[in-house]
Amino acid sequence: MLCKIIPEKCIACGLCQVYAPNIFDYNDDGIVILKNDHEALQEFVHESETTNAITAYRKCPVRAIEIIEN
Ligand code: SF4
Repeated sequence: MLCKIIPEKCIACGLCQVYAPNIFDYNDDGIVILKNDHEALQEFVHESETTNAITAYRKCPVRAIEIIEN
């Protein structure tokens, strides 16, 4: 499963990090970044993290997270 972030849409609500702290983090302005690579806009999600990633995707109020199943 591929997880993408769209920082331009992010409103810095903090929810994705609550639901998937191993995937999401924030920059100094509270805007979403990927925890494992702060420059990346997408990453493959480990199987053990897929449930968390999907929950974060569903909870994001502005659809700044995209999930692509494979
Ligand atoms: S849940 Fe969405 S809007 Fe909130 S911090 Fe995460 S990416 Fe940004």
